[in-house]
Amino acid sequence: METPVSFLNWSLHKLLKTEGDHFHKASIKIIFCLLAFSLIKASIVIGVAFHYQQDLQLQRAVVMLVIYTILLKFLLADKANMRVVAHVMVWLGLLLIWSNVFLFAQSINILTLQFVFMLILGSFCIMNPRFGIIYSVVATLPVILHLVFGSKLHLEGISPNELASPGYEMMVVLNFVTIVMCHYLFQQSFKSNIEEKEALNKQLQVAVKEANLAAESKSEFLSTMTHELRTPLNSVIGISQLLMQDSHSREQEVSLQILKFSAENLYSLINNILDFNKLGSDKLDLEDIPVHLDDLVRDTCLGLRFQAQQKEIDFVLNIDEAINGRGIITDPTRITQIIYNLAGNAIKFTEQGSVSVDLKVLRVNEQILKVRFSVIDTGIGISADKQEAIFESFTQASVSTARNFGGTGLGLAIVKRLLLLFDSGIQVESAPGAGSTFYFDIDFKLHQGPADSLTEGPEADFDLRDLKILVAEDNHMNRLLLVKVFARWNNKPEFAVNGQEAIDKINSNPYDVVLMDLHMPLVDGFEAARAIRAMADPLRSGVRIIALTASVSDNLSYKIREAGMDDFLYKPFKLNDLYLKLRRMPV
Ligand code: ADP
Repeated sequence: METPVSFLNWSLHKLLKTEGDHFHKASIKIIFCLLAFSLIKASIVIGVAFHYQQDLQLQRAVVMLVIYTILLKFLLADKANMRVVAHVMVWLGLLLIWSNVFLFAQSINILTLQFVFMLILGSFCIMNPRFGIIYSVVATLPVILHLVFGSKLHLEGISPNELASPGYEMMVVLNFVTIVMCHYLFQQSFKSNIEEKEALNKQLQVAVKEANLAAESKSEFLSTMTHELRTPLNSVIGISQLLMQDSHSREQEVSLQILKFSAENLYSLINNILDFNKLGSDKLDLEDIPVHLDDLVRDTCLGLRFQAQQKEIDFVLNIDEAINGRGIITDPTRITQIIYNLAGNAIKFTEQGSVSVDLKVLRVNEQILKVRFSVIDTGIGISADKQEAIFESFTQASVSTARNFGGTGLGLAIVKRLLLLFDSGIQVESAPGAGSTFYFDIDFKLHQGPADSLTEGPEADFDLRDLKILVAEDNHMNRLLLVKVFARWNNKPEFAVNGQEAIDKINSNPYDVVLMDLHMPLVDGFEAARAIRAMADPLRSGVRIIALTASVSDNLSYKIREAGMDDFLYKPFKLNDLYLKLRRMPV
């Protein structure tokens, strides 16, 4: 609670203590200074006028003294009174100027000009510019009127009554002191303000630097983590793919499918987190790859169908006849990711009934195929007030969602941002208990080249017996996986466990292809590739090098080509894709 200021306390300290802004502080000091000097000046006038019996001057000075004292006390009581005090002071100043010009001096003397100057200065320093201009005009008006009309405007029969000497001279000196003081105070506040801004700017620069460092280490941590997670996942997914090709019992097949889909789910979760990071920093670009849209969606739905079966709900895929067999140019990974997220949610939030993925052609011409994708479920539905929020990152429709269904609240945020890259947007129609429909439209460019560039050869025909392959890979599990994979393709590759060993092996033996892991101890894949390209023998230096990487750093493809490597494949990779890369066929 504010303590009242005693009548004898004339200190400004209390007002200034609670004011943080330098300009406001300066305004308070300037008003205080003007009032204090006015009190001194009024006292001097009272003394001189009394001595020389200048009654009118005496009366004016007494009234001023009383008003100035009240104003000073009023100001010191609360800084909120400053505005009222400032206006009353200005009005008193105007009264002084007008009465000087037309009554007391009936001319323009130094004192009047000083008052005009102080009034302009004061009104601009302690009020807003609008009042500054208005009061300045009113203060200069009598001076201009006097200059234009001379004595014609003076009151008849009243002779001038200027303050007698030395009162007049003392007033002039004190006015100059007041003007200098006001300027000094204003200049001080200006300086303090600039110093404070500079200090704040420095703090801001430090904070921005720290925030950038934190963001950098976050993305570094994320890429390291994803690298570390992807490497073992490569073996899990690869081995499960291999095992599924073997003959096994029905029971084993179910277990293998669970293993494969769990691994793929984990992989898609890792990718979601990574993409979220990339999408946030605008680092994600779409690829342009020719694919058959129907095959792509069918492949994507294989895993989803299995998930639906596990929950004993129907899974229906409807693809418009007009899409079948059509080649389009798109980013298949992102299309898969969008469908996987939407249909994955649909299955997750549906306990009975069905989940359908519908592809309908909206428009088709020579170049463009416009398709509406709809993912429809008969699940729990979403209330209208949540339908916008679920697209925000880390947001779920209710607090119990994570507990009952799991999830991170990232999937739809990623879908929304990915669709923006396709110049599209996601729509939802849903009601609690009545299921949900998520849909979006995409304009695909039709692929004009030969259709067979889109197809993969059947796995049974895969044969690599004609290739001499060196695999540079430090991860033991991945080496074991590749031994098994290549054995199926009638090949027995040689292995190096780091970049240096790869260089030594190539020095002693030429190879057709090197599969080069980028992240290896001693000499990494980039360095090894550069050393190989620098070899004198063209048979060795010209070897085809395919990078294998679980890394996700920016500009990876540029860095790989710059190190002289021919191609690359992300881990975990599909065995088919590895084969196609080795055979120089499009993946
Ligand atoms: P997650 O599924 O990991 O929680 P998403 O961003 O994919 O995160 O979804 C956000 C929220 O939207 C979900 O938690 C859920 O509350 C709601 N939601 C998404 N899809 C559906 C759906 N098909 N049916 C009901 N609710 C859904």
